Amino acid sequence: MKAIVIGGGIGGMCAALALEQSGYQTEVYEAVKIIRPVGAAISIWPNGVKCLNFLGLKTQLQALGGNMAFMAYNDFQHGQTLTRFSMRPLVESVGERPYPVARADLQAMLLERYGAQRVNFGKRVSHIEQDATGVTAWFEDGSEARGDFLIAADGTHSVIRATVTGQPAERRYAGYVNWNGLVSIDESIAPADQWTTFVGEGKRVSLMPVSGNRFYFFFDVPLPQGLAEDRSSVKADLTRYFSGWAAPVQKLIAAIDPQTTNRIEIHDIDPFPRLVKGRVALLGDAGHSTTPDIGQGGCAAMEDAVVLALTLQSHSLGIEDALRRYEARRAERVKDLVLKARRRCDVTHGKQPEVTQAWYEELKQETGERILSGMQETIIGGPLA
Ligand code: FAD
Repeated sequence: MKAIVIGGGIGGMCAALALEQSGYQTEVYEAVKIIRPVGAAISIWPNGVKCLNFLGLKTQLQALGGNMAFMAYNDFQHGQTLTRFSMRPLVESVGERPYPVARADLQAMLLERYGAQRVNFGKRVSHIEQDATGVTAWFEDGSEARGDFLIAADGTHSVIRATVTGQPAERRYAGYVNWNGLVSIDESIAPADQWTTFVGEGKRVSLMPVSGNRFYFFFDVPLPQGLAEDRSSVKADLTRYFSGWAAPVQKLIAAIDPQTTNRIEIHDIDPFPRLVKGRVALLGDAGHSTTPDIGQGGCAAMEDAVVLALTLQSHSLGIEDALRRYEARRAERVKDLVLKARRRCDVTHGKQPEVTQAWYEELKQETGERILSGMQETIIGGPLA
């Protein structure tokens, strides 16, 4: 049995690895010649980590992950700590650590495991067709590929999605812009073993450690869509938006390299129940696009991959039956993640200013218990809980 996997991002590579581990042949087709992920880094929460462990990547991931032993929220103006707590209770309850990792490192790890030379780069799928025995994908260069089934992991702008769901999906602007990148760790900005977030005015500035003595940083600002801002204006833009913020934030703005800082208008897509049609399955952002507010989009793609492979491996009534079961196992879970992230997004980014203000007040009373239990609930909803 051969699977055609469209997309060589996190979802596609995890799907290919999981399917091969379950005894399926795979061919991966990736549109671009060189993958340039949209973000600088990603936090892989224990539900995602367990999926990568399952794919045999435990040691490699540990070498790439930052040590996020503590979590803290700081006041935006003076930088004083609103709350700070250990991540240990979460790690002990779910049985695994979270690992923030640089995206380039994660992508390289997945490609190396699969064999980068085996990925068909520069192959952009234009359309697909299925019949009673398999699926054919056509590429923009006129070539085609055929398999017994097809996994569409072609991301949030998926060209395959509509053939599965029967209708185009609208991407919804979440109301804020995110800038992200990597800088060398500087402990006068934030501790090296902590996820630190400065909050105020519906904005946030966050730092997480990744390997190589680097912080993954991001800035969020509620803004209209389509502003004329890019890398050339990034320092001036951030200086303006974060005027009056604490000294570590100003230091971070001074330290960033505009050439490697990404600016992204954050979107999601209303959850939809249909992830499968016949021999074609959506996976990762193609099947569920979320705001990054609970750091679960990539983790959900990893979960999809593991559930897909285990479902195919453990059922024998044919591909279409197994894919339907994959859909049944994933649809509610990914809907929950997208909606949970959306709720978090609205509170964090001042959609209703009084609700956001109340959250800032709550943070002053937070012992860690409430925040960690919310995370735990998300994590134990994963397939390898
Ligand atoms: P993608 O990574 O988009 O990969 C899709 C691939 O398909 C791409 O390589 C693309 O080139 C290829 N492709 C597209 N069209 C075609 C085509 N027609 N033919 C062939 N190939 C095609 N998630 C987390 O878990 N934790 C986080 O901390 C986190 N932080 C985030 C921060 C930001 C700012 C953003 C924007 C997202 C974040 N996410 C996070 C979400 C995460 O990045 C995505 O969920 C994840 O990258 C989805 O992987 P994917 O493989 O489905 O899609």
